[in-house]
Amino acid sequence: MSYSDMRRAAAHLPVTISSAILPGSLWGCYDAANDVILIDRRLTYTAKRCTLVHELLHWRHGDDGCSNDRSKRERRVRRQTALMLINPVELALLERMYDDDLWSIADELNVTMQVLEDYRAILYDTSPNK
Ligand SMILES: [Zn+2]
Repeated sequence: MSYSDMRRAAAHLPVTISSAILPGSLWGCYDAANDVILIDRRLTYTAKRCTLVHELLHWRHGDDGCSNDRSKRERRVRRQTALMLINPVELALLERMYDDDLWSIADELNVTMQVLEDYRAILYDTSPNK
């Protein structure tokens, strides 16, 4: 699904999605008090697509505001975003085609490097304290 398809589909949800110029390195933000998701308008369509899924998951969980990177709810949402956007069969085929060229793989999957890295961390993380 492309970013514009997502925007159209999300128009039926009881949450407002707007684009804005966000401060600093913020890509997106969910404001629970007003039920508004803001997406930085300067992002590429690929980044907007990933950010929208990420913020919609915060909305669904009722996570208020923009949390810091290391919080539990942030990790949960990043994990779910990666699982939602990446098809494991497609990834396996691309890994055969491109080896470790993660940029090309992310480009083919239409996801950001961060989403791809989050997904690979889930796949290859065998640590017991996951
Ligand atoms: Zn987040």
